[in-house]
Amino acid sequence: MSAAHEAAPDRSAGPAVRTVLGDIDPAGLGICDAHDHLFLRSPQLPGQELADTGAAAAELAAFRAAGGAAVIQWTPYGMGRFAGELPRLSRESGVTLVAATGLHQAAHYDPEILAGKRVREDLAGLFVAELTEGIGGTEAGGDGPRDARPRAGMIKVAGGFHGLDRHARYTMAAAAEAHLATGAAIGVHLELGTGALDVLDLLCDELAVPPDRVILGHLNRSPDPVVHRMAAEAGAYLAFDGPSRANHATDWRLPDALTALADAGFADRILLGGDTTTAAARSVNGGPGMPYLLRRQRRRLELALGVGLVTRMLTENPSRAFSAEWP
Ligand SMILES: [Zn+2]
Repeated sequence: MSAAHEAAPDRSAGPAVRTVLGDIDPAGLGICDAHDHLFLRSPQLPGQELADTGAAAAELAAFRAAGGAAVIQWTPYGMGRFAGELPRLSRESGVTLVAATGLHQAAHYDPEILAGKRVREDLAGLFVAELTEGIGGTEAGGDGPRDARPRAGMIKVAGGFHGLDRHARYTMAAAAEAHLATGAAIGVHLELGTGALDVLDLLCDELAVPPDRVILGHLNRSPDPVVHRMAAEAGAYLAFDGPSRANHATDWRLPDALTALADAGFADRILLGGDTTTAAARSVNGGPGMPYLLRRQRRRLELALGVGLVTRMLTENPSRAFSAEWP
């Protein structure tokens, strides 16, 4: 019996989280991993593709067993989303799933994908179509039913290391346009956690996206309390997502970073996630995977911040950040 929420076709208007099974009341999201991946393919990660539906199902089951209820999948257009598999995986696991549209850094694509007519000429239209009509074509992927074309529930884009190149600016302009048309939140991959203020200058000051519709990802990788504070003061959501990988330089700073934000009155801006991007990082392959957030990180943060505050970061904050007044 699935606990995932089925679409309610007569849902009255108001903010909703757009899941792969339809729009749901934000209050029903539950314990949420606000940034993760079930499927992902990049030329930057050869041999580590997340492309195994069985492993994805096992990862979701492990997350569910650890107390998880929802996962926001930040895999954007052209990176092997297996979107057609997501409704089935959500139903079978009982975990609510949100899919993404959007575009990553150019380095994550084979050139022919970026050379596609729609990407070059109507990127905002592509994003809007995936948010309102569904994710189709080869991106549906897998062996799922042909009619399984879930709609995306967020827009994912990416900045660069301490700056924004032309591709990032082009992508963010399209994301802003798609946001203004749909209300969808924009999640931003910050390269090594940097460039947060450049992103806010562009998206909010130049492109008129309200700051509270922007989610800055990977801020844990750049533990600069001043930048964290400035981004929170601007009104953006701050995502602290996943254990550090090549070293442990940032993990131990997380409780202090979040405590500083909470003490300054910004606990309601904080999102937590796992960001599993390689096959080796899946818990079913011996890595931290999706359960790590609840199995280890949650407990560690509760010691610093208290159970109530951490629970809000895992429930109320993501339900607010990812809900929208869909047209
Ligand atoms: Zn990610």
